[in-house]
Amino acid sequence: MTDCIFCKLAAGEIPANKVYEDDDVFAFHDIHPVAPVHFLIIPKRHVDSLAHTDESHQTVLGRMLLLAPRLAAELGLTEGFRTIINTGAGGGQTFFHLHLHVIGGAPLSPNIV
Ligand code: ADP
Repeated sequence: MTDCIFCKLAAGEIPANKVYEDDDVFAFHDIHPVAPVHFLIIPKRHVDSLAHTDESHQTVLGRMLLLAPRLAAELGLTEGFRTIINTGAGGGQTFFHLHLHVIGGAPLSPNIV
């Protein structure tokens, strides 16, 4: 996926404001934050969206979810945070490399669910 911006961020080919990195996962601050803290957690191996995952993604999906509260705490989100995965155009996804939004640090708009 050479034309994928998130692949390039994870590979260090374009600059990211990195939050965390290991062999499988990359986390970075969103370039257009909607709250004082807004970062994204992505798998390094490209997959378009949650709708494109299969059993081979089980471990990395678990790692992404487990990292969310750990990184949120490290960034001071002691009062809680919101996680969002937009999936497909109908789900509001505009960057087609799976990513988990972690958002917090200010009162958030009411939930839609
Ligand atoms: P939406 O754009 O509606 O939030 P997505 O769930 O696809 O839909 O989110 C993509 C996110 O990626 C956006 O919040 C956007 O600000 C962020 N983003 C895009 N390019 C970059 C970048 N180079 N660095 C950091 N964040 C980025």
